[in-house]
Amino acid sequence: MFGYAGRVLRIDLTRRVTTTEPYDPEIARRFLGGRGFSAYTLYTEVPTGADPLGPDNKVIVSTGPLSGTLVPGAGKTDITTKSPETGGYASASVGGLLCAELKYAGYDAIIVEGISQSPVYLFIDDDLVELRDASHLWGKGSLTVEEQLKTELGEAFQIASVGPAAENLVSYACITHDFGRQAGRGGVGTVLGAKKLKAIAVRGSKSIPIADVETFRTLSRAMFKACMESDAAEVWQKYGTAGVVSWANEIGALPTRNFQSGFFEKCDSLSGEVMRDSIVVSDKACFACPCPCGKYSHTEKHGVFVEGPEYETTALLGANCAIADIEDVAYANYLCDELGLDTISTGNCVAFAIECFEKGIISSADTGGLELSFGDSAAIFKLIGMIAAREGIGELLASGVKHAAEVLGGKAADLAVQVKGMEMSGYESRSAPAMLLSYMTCDVGAHHNRSWAITYDLEVGRDKISADKAAKVIELQHIRPLFDVLGACRLQWVELGLSLEHYAPVLQALTGQDRSWDDLMRISERVWNLTRSYWIRETAGFGRDWDSPPPRTWKEPVATGPTKGSSVSWEDNQRLLDMYYQQRGWDENGIPTPAKLAELELTDIVG
Ligand code: SF4
Repeated sequence: MFGYAGRVLRIDLTRRVTTTEPYDPEIARRFLGGRGFSAYTLYTEVPTGADPLGPDNKVIVSTGPLSGTLVPGAGKTDITTKSPETGGYASASVGGLLCAELKYAGYDAIIVEGISQSPVYLFIDDDLVELRDASHLWGKGSLTVEEQLKTELGEAFQIASVGPAAENLVSYACITHDFGRQAGRGGVGTVLGAKKLKAIAVRGSKSIPIADVETFRTLSRAMFKACMESDAAEVWQKYGTAGVVSWANEIGALPTRNFQSGFFEKCDSLSGEVMRDSIVVSDKACFACPCPCGKYSHTEKHGVFVEGPEYETTALLGANCAIADIEDVAYANYLCDELGLDTISTGNCVAFAIECFEKGIISSADTGGLELSFGDSAAIFKLIGMIAAREGIGELLASGVKHAAEVLGGKAADLAVQVKGMEMSGYESRSAPAMLLSYMTCDVGAHHNRSWAITYDLEVGRDKISADKAAKVIELQHIRPLFDVLGACRLQWVELGLSLEHYAPVLQALTGQDRSWDDLMRISERVWNLTRSYWIRETAGFGRDWDSPPPRTWKEPVATGPTKGSSVSWEDNQRLLDMYYQQRGWDENGIPTPAKLAELELTDIVG
């Protein structure tokens, strides 16, 4: 199979057996790879009703056909599992160099199943695959483990690891790779922690077969050239995603004080420019990236190095917690990376706790004497540590804001900014109905990366409720996750304007298979409907209630800033949801119709 390593590595942690099996060409035809392969494997291999933290759940680490090649940004790995945070589908994408090394070792994917009795790490050196004792790594931070394994095994090994938060089964623990790249959302790290798999170390020396080497080289070079010559390249490389901070604040979309507002009055001190001038020490790229958005930083104040903070981290651990010192945000980022916590969910949980404290829903009796207030960095650092250790109030927050609000009862639910049990990422959207719809319908919970539709709201009218907004969300939900199927970064398209027309020809030169752009979009729609079907299968009574927006977005107008007073009414968000279901070919309860499943060749899988 051109473009593929051709093998899947299966790790049974219970029996301590590792096997390889061929990559099924029929799965490649229908789902291509990456998140497509892993969604199919999750649906078909993990039994209905499996405990996310039990032996029946699996973690699928999956590369795409472009991964590890010279297509710009071809460094993305999808990690999929049944989420311990939401109980539904979880899929997180991580950059860095993991996918390239895994393919060079001869594997397109790893399927991890069972549970180990004691801590282990997975060692892969081409065909030598071993489960090795990790008792000396257990209890250590993700970054520390990465450094230690590189010292023990050699720099050429690529490491993915989990931290103490995963060991303690915090439901939004992440997997860290390359000293600061994360598969962040949905608790993919938590499942590795439950399986006692502390890390994966991989090195490879094989090559990827290419159908038409000359054409592939020519097309890849043209894509590189287009990225480098983009007008946006210089600014993108200089600031990375942190360049979005000031823009988001100006349009009233920067979540502030637990999403009470979209405007942070002290935002100037968190901007990409301030960050670049004060703490950034170097740029940092994923595999084959022509314009690195990664920023490696050092905070003198706290004496640590950290990759970031990226936009989402500054939004959620900065403005949303009202921290106005970029060095404090960088330190909170470092704490999350080392402890192995998703910064988006952590920032939400901290801000939720502070607002509960300020509104008298919890008190110092609940926090062990810790006084919580927005902007108090020292208390926030302490709270992050308590969450990772499940200590005191950290126990309540370790399962996310939905769970915490259910335990606290009363008005707490109105302060929990989440969809499907996942905390909302960094765009306040009460003046952006398409962005809000993106959060409502995202297939992992309230995550921005499937459909970043806020620019469309700005383009066509922020308060407008219209069918074209539903159509745009659907279009983005097919294009953006397609990159996770291909195994490449989407930011070359989003930020540098690389034309989507490049992708079908370069994939054809790589694999030798003639697929049009429409074929690729069809695959992406197939995956979207399969993950929707997974939610339906795993969640009793699943339907449109699960696509409800957070109460704050329709009950409470924005408190301050340029969007002050705005909200999307319940009637309007439901009207938009109706348009969305209708255009997707789903019924009024959000269930794919039999005709839609048949059209997408899913009937034999979903039934
Ligand atoms: Fe990685 Fe950023 Fe480059 Fe994408 S743009 S490949 S996330 S460094």
